[in-house]
Amino acid sequence: MDKHRNADGTYNAIGALAAIVGANYADIGELADQVKANHAKLNACAYHEFEPLITAPPGRARYGCKHCRGTIDHHAYYWHELGRRAAP
Ligand SMILES: [Zn+2]
Repeated sequence: MDKHRNADGTYNAIGALAAIVGANYADIGELADQVKANHAKLNACAYHEFEPLITAPPGRARYGCKHCRGTIDHHAYYWHELGRRAAP
């Protein structure tokens, strides 16, 4: 794990995670980029309207916003719907 330590004592999260799960750096980096892109879409959206994604495997439901195309898991969807406000 020391080889993933930065000069300031913190860790390179992508390198550390790749070592922990046995994946390669490029795959974890690509996953991290996808997560960042998804968060950027969600944060830039004025009003989400989530609908179930038919490609989600059973027990791992995900929802996609029809405006920003950001996606969330079932837990985020549950809490989002509890705090739902009227459309602007
Ligand atoms: Zn949205």
